[in-house]
Amino acid sequence: MPDPSATAGHKYEPEIIRVPALYAWPPRPLKALRYLLIDLLYPWGFVYLALAYPTWRYLTPALETMAHFEPGWMALLWLRNCAFLLLFAGGLHCYLHRRRAQGDAYRLNRKKLSADNKLFLWQDQVKDNMFWSIASGVTIWTGFEAISYWVYASGRLPLIDNPWYFVACIYLLFLWSTANFYAVHRVLHFRSIYQRVHELHHRNVDIGPWSGISMHPLEHLFYFSPFVLWWFVPVHPVIIILTGFYQALNPSLSHSGFDYLSLGKLRLKTGDWYHQLHHQYFNLNYGNTPTPFDKIFGSWHDGSQESLQAQKQRWRVRRRQTG
Ligand SMILES: [Zn+2]
Ligand SMILES: [Zn+2]
Repeated sequence: MPDPSATAGHKYEPEIIRVPALYAWPPRPLKALRYLLIDLLYPWGFVYLALAYPTWRYLTPALETMAHFEPGWMALLWLRNCAFLLLFAGGLHCYLHRRRAQGDAYRLNRKKLSADNKLFLWQDQVKDNMFWSIASGVTIWTGFEAISYWVYASGRLPLIDNPWYFVACIYLLFLWSTANFYAVHRVLHFRSIYQRVHELHHRNVDIGPWSGISMHPLEHLFYFSPFVLWWFVPVHPVIIILTGFYQALNPSLSHSGFDYLSLGKLRLKTGDWYHQLHHQYFNLNYGNTPTPFDKIFGSWHDGSQESLQAQKQRWRVRRRQTG
C-alpha cells in the first residue's frame, strides 16, 4: 500500500504504472479475469452502473417523448446532466481542494490550483474550468445523448434487453471509449490542432476535478464521439446513460489531482497518475491503461525516472528526425 503522506520533505510517491494483466504475455488467465471483473470497474464503474438504471427509470423522459427533437425534454436532460457534473466535480473539488479535507494525503499535484493566471478566463482556473465544462461540455454531452435516444425512440434501431448482451456492451463501451480516446488524442496533438483546440485543456498543468472536461467545444465533439457507436450497434438505453457518465463524470475523478479519495477508513482510487503525467509532460501517455496503445507506440511513461529518461531520449531522436 502506498504511503499517503505528502507533507514537507515527504512527497507522496504513486505506484509504478503497469500494463493490465489482460495483456500479459505469456497469458495470466486468472489475473486477466480479475482485471476484467474487478479492477477495470472498481469502484467507479460500479457506481456509474448503480446510478445509470435509476437515472433511466426516473430521470429520463419517456422514449415516446424523445421520438422528436423538442427543446423541453432536451433542456431537462441538460439540467439533469449538469446536476450530475456538479455533484461529482463540485463535490470532489469542495472536499479535496476547498476544504482540503484530506490535506496533502495522496496528492499528485505539485502546486495549488491557480487563482491568478492570465491564461484562464477571469484569471481563475476553477471558474474557467467550470465555464468550459458546463457551457460546452454538458451541452455537447447532452446533444450526443439526445441523438442516441432519438435513434431508438424513432424506431431506427431496436432496443435490446438481454442481460448477457448488456454485460458485453459494458465491456465494449469501456474498451471502445479508451481506444477512441487514444486515437482522438493523438490527432489533437498535431501541432496546428493542438494550438487551436487542445491547448485549452492543457492550460491545466496541475489539475482539479473541474479540469476533466474543460475542453474546447471542438474537442468535446471528438471526445464525446463514443456515443456514435450506439447509433449503429443496438443497446439498452441504460448503456447510453452509462456512456455519458463514463465520458463526462469519470474525468472529474481522473483529474482530481489526488491518487486516492480518503473517507475515514475508506480509500477509493480517484486520480489517474497515468494521465496526470500527460498533463505534466504533454508528449507521452496519450491514451489510458485499459487499452495500452502507448506501450505499442513507445509513448508509455510508467512514472519512474528511468522511464522518463527513455521518453526524453525518444523526444530527442524525433526532434533530430524532423529537423
Ligand atoms: Zn486531461
Ligand atoms: Zn493532450
